[in-house]
Amino acid sequence: MDSKAKVLSYRGGMYLLLAILIISFIGGFIIYRYSLLHHFVSEDYINEIIFYLIIGVATTATVIALILALRLTRNIRSLQRVAEAMENGTNIKTPEFANDELGDLSRHIIDLYSRLQQATIDVRREHNLALHEQQEKLRIKRQLTNNINHELKTPVAAIQGYLETLISNQDITPEERESFISKCYIHSQRLSQLLHDVSTITRLEDGSSRIECESVELRSIIDEIASDVALLPDDKRMRVNIDMAESMLVKGNSTLLMSIFKNLTDNAIAYSGGRDIFIRLIAQSDEEYTITFSDNGIGIDEEHLLHIFERFYRIDKGRSRKLGGTGLGLSIVKNSVLFHGGDISVRNRPQGGLEFKLTLPRA
Ligand code: ADP
Repeated sequence: MDSKAKVLSYRGGMYLLLAILIISFIGGFIIYRYSLLHHFVSEDYINEIIFYLIIGVATTATVIALILALRLTRNIRSLQRVAEAMENGTNIKTPEFANDELGDLSRHIIDLYSRLQQATIDVRREHNLALHEQQEKLRIKRQLTNNINHELKTPVAAIQGYLETLISNQDITPEERESFISKCYIHSQRLSQLLHDVSTITRLEDGSSRIECESVELRSIIDEIASDVALLPDDKRMRVNIDMAESMLVKGNSTLLMSIFKNLTDNAIAYSGGRDIFIRLIAQSDEEYTITFSDNGIGIDEEHLLHIFERFYRIDKGRSRKLGGTGLGLSIVKNSVLFHGGDISVRNRPQGGLEFKLTLPRA
């Protein structure tokens, strides 16, 4: 409800003035004619009455016109201040407008302007956000390129070093030759793993639309990984304990789903120092499966836990490289889960070991 006091509108004022003039004109005319006809009073007296009547009507009309004109001027001045503020783009302190036509119009204009100002602010904010996102993407890309360069340098330099020694050194023993060649081979494997991981990451980032999704039997992927682990030599083998439904259809890309569980398994074997891996289906809804992947190893210090999904983040660089790690494994895991529209988190289990909790969409 409008809390403002109702005042005489301009149109109302004009009608009132007109009414006063018409009534006084007709009234005056009737009095004049009637009095003269019936000789109530003398003509001089009538003239005097009419004179005062004219003065009275003129004064009332002038006062009403003055009030209307003053209010009009005040409203126009306020509107002018508002227009100046709009032109300068400064904040408008809404002045008090009377509850008349001009006041209504002014409030409408101010309301429209405020909405326009808010829309401009929103558009600018969105634009800045988009710009920031674009810059952030560029920064991440540049960082990735730098990191890749850095990571490539080490194995390439090592291979070059060994090959140079082999070429320039004739009296090298057959054992040394064999050792150098096998080191070259290990480094070339590292290179190929790095290229593979980088291509996965780039594929995930650049061309999500190029990655095809279908109905994938997740249980077969997990079983395949478990049988691979069972074939490993004793010192690398872990028990894979699976507590899942016999059939779990996920809407996704089988290569990426495989790389999620393969990376987690390889990490558990390489870093956890535990004996068991547990893969459990802990919840399911019509839309998704919630799965935990955990080990009973040493876990990760809380300070590192926040960063382990970052690219090239390793806790023990030397150990990771020695074990063939590229520092991209968990980043691939996270991006693959996100690609499927799922979510992933990590924590240290109270009873020891690391636990990843992830969701994947049901087919
Ligand atoms: P990397 O190529 O080094 O394996 P990841 O991104 O896969 O890179 O892993 C990042 C780091 O997280 C590893 O270097 C390792 O130190 C640590 N990590 C990963 N999984 C585990 C685990 N199950 N237990 C203990 N540490 C782990």
